[in-house]
Amino acid sequence: MSSGAHARDLVDPFDRVVRDLRISVTDRCNFRCTYCMPSEGMQWMPRSEILTFEEIERIARICVERYGFDGIRLTGGEPTIRAHVTTLVAKLAALGVDLALTTNGATLRNSAFDLREAGLSRINISLDTLDREKFAQMTRRDELDNVLAGIQAAKSAGFDPVKINAVVERGVNDDEVVDLARFGRDEGLEMRFIEFMPLDASDEWQRAKVVGQAEIVDMIAAEWAVEQLPARGAAPANMWRYADGAGKVGVIPTVTNPFCGDCDRVRLTADGQFRTCLFATDEFDLRDAMRSGETDDQLAARIEAAVGTKWAGHQINQVNFIRPQRSMSQIGG
Ligand code: SAM
Ligand code: SF4
Repeated sequence: MSSGAHARDLVDPFDRVVRDLRISVTDRCNFRCTYCMPSEGMQWMPRSEILTFEEIERIARICVERYGFDGIRLTGGEPTIRAHVTTLVAKLAALGVDLALTTNGATLRNSAFDLREAGLSRINISLDTLDREKFAQMTRRDELDNVLAGIQAAKSAGFDPVKINAVVERGVNDDEVVDLARFGRDEGLEMRFIEFMPLDASDEWQRAKVVGQAEIVDMIAAEWAVEQLPARGAAPANMWRYADGAGKVGVIPTVTNPFCGDCDRVRLTADGQFRTCLFATDEFDLRDAMRSGETDDQLAARIEAAVGTKWAGHQINQVNFIRPQRSMSQIGG
């Protein structure tokens, strides 16, 4: 739902039109998922370095009004722990974009209705296991019941579909793929399994811990007949439909089946660094540029220069892959 009235498309060197902005609103989190953060010792960004809502809205407005961006996703860290995040949701919803949010769901039972009312269009909730002990191990917080209540609150608030993200890690929760898929079918949720990516702050990622798309789909297909749905466009998930009509299930195959060729995304970190890929090693500062009084034209020129460096795709599968210096929660997943 591009506005159509924008000045021009933002096209990268590989002819991909960039239209989707992922905004991290905080690097902080109330969980400590093992695949994302260490239990202690994360260095939080100083508050003075975090973009204000006005600064975030300014960058978003430039992307929407000049380049016709039609999708914005808020993420983090945990976006719902940023104070007054519904105020930001209302500001961004007013730009007329498809506005989404990714959350761990821990406090959603209190905020789902307010987020919906503020104009949030879509929600993704992370849930890697249905087992209370394993949940406490994986997130280092005993919050399974709160997350389940948050999922119900999202449904009651009218989000449809509610999408659930599960990172699958071998030897940790790969025995729960079918249980999670069943939960999705029974509850009318769209389950999406995510391959474990080398973005954990503890640097414990190993290829052997990745459960790939083919294996995930085989586990599901052994239980229910599924049919793959046609091309996903720029969306990161490959989707399957249950033949018995019980909804859809997806896989985000970043490692075994990268979708970079169709990528239309760029990212803004909580401290105002513009990135052209989750795995990029370069960042383009917009915060100090804004704070030193640059005009919208100057900021737009920085965004265009950054997009001019967007690469064809990440190098996870190459021997020369270099991990980005920041981890998932610091970039914004
Ligand atoms: N805190 C929110 C949450 O967990 O949903 C939003 C931020 S989180 C970084 C965004 C998504 O990235 C979550 O679905 C999370 O499970 C996923 N994620 C985090 N670390 C990951 C990793 N190393 N590999 C794959 N997915 C990861
Ligand atoms: Fe927090 Fe999300 Fe990272 Fe878990 S995945 S530690 S909930 S930012």
